[in-house]
Amino acid sequence: MNKKIWFLLFAISAFFITAAYPQAKDGIKKVVIDAGHGGKDAGAIGSKGKEKDVTLAVALEVGKRIKEKCPDVEVYYTRTADTYPKLEERSKFANSKHADLFISIHCNSNTNHAAHGVETYVMGLHKTESNLAVARRENASMLLEDDYKTTYGNFDPNSPESYIIFSLYSNAYLDRSAKLAAKVQNNLVKTTGFTDRKVQQAGFWVLHSVAMPSILIELGFISNPEEEAKLLNADFQKKLAESIASAFEAYKNEAENKAPANTDKDKNNAEQQPAAENKPAEEQKPADNTKPAEPQKPAEDLKPVENQKPTSNVNDAGVRYKVQFYASKENLSTNHQKFAGLQKVGKYFENNLWKYTSGDELTYESVQKILKSVKEKFPDAFVIAFKDGNKIPLADARKLQP
Ligand SMILES: [Zn+2]
Repeated sequence: MNKKIWFLLFAISAFFITAAYPQAKDGIKKVVIDAGHGGKDAGAIGSKGKEKDVTLAVALEVGKRIKEKCPDVEVYYTRTADTYPKLEERSKFANSKHADLFISIHCNSNTNHAAHGVETYVMGLHKTESNLAVARRENASMLLEDDYKTTYGNFDPNSPESYIIFSLYSNAYLDRSAKLAAKVQNNLVKTTGFTDRKVQQAGFWVLHSVAMPSILIELGFISNPEEEAKLLNADFQKKLAESIASAFEAYKNEAENKAPANTDKDKNNAEQQPAAENKPAEEQKPADNTKPAEPQKPAEDLKPVENQKPTSNVNDAGVRYKVQFYASKENLSTNHQKFAGLQKVGKYFENNLWKYTSGDELTYESVQKILKSVKEKFPDAFVIAFKDGNKIPLADARKLQP
């Protein structure tokens, strides 16, 4: 199959997954806990132990503690023994349960044995080479499946090019995933004393294919002798599990509280956007010369339309809200037939992709109307904000200009 067709199929399947399994509206009642690897797939191997054993022990303990803390929650496991469910089976299982959350548990590994720390991932396009390396290693599990070529189409976990599909994923689940990820990450850092490698984004096949908010936790480095000793220790595993389970509980309480809506919610989002920076120095790579040069872009693409007429009661702090609905490697014209029927189509360039937007609104309220109509055609569309032409976190924008 040619790459473009495959890319399109992937996008279409993402659309149907999203459409077919709408998020449960009445709280967090079902969670799927995914112990990474298992059976013939040992995952990363340390000097004394294997990732698959750590992930199973922690996963089972997380589930047990969630049940204790939240008796109304149904806990499902993708595995409860030393078996290897295919990556695809894991996500199908979670989707078939119509779960509200998917938590995948892994251990990190690096050829540099000094690498250390804990990090939590949400689905997205990687921002650093080291994040891509983690996703490649975890996705490589599929290479152990006999028929992986059929199952995963032309997705090649080792080809950086394959990962471009994940740029389309900026979807409805990202905010919630990031919120859970931040709670888990904070708890884990507090409990373990491990270095905080922050919440990150990368293209994990298993996260991409579940139709629910999802995170993937890298508990620590099994390749680092000090961290390995802790990861293999049963008491330490219980501490890890407790951190994850209490983060889950906090997330659930917050999600079900239906608190006075947007202000608090957005404040949290601001703190919890995945960070691309702050990688510990040992893995910093020299500048990546393999990246395609940024296409020259006409300056006006990044600037808000200037002829907006602010209504009298809006304090114009320079913020413009737009609806992002599409991303592509290609620099398409904003008049492209793909965008027919959408209002005020614009684009900007970020992370080696052109991102296409509709609307250019002074208020969050008015962009919601645009969002609604764009979603009819692009269900994964979401709102972003610019200030004076620069993209800023939505929560910051709303503080400046509600
Ligand atoms: Zn793993």
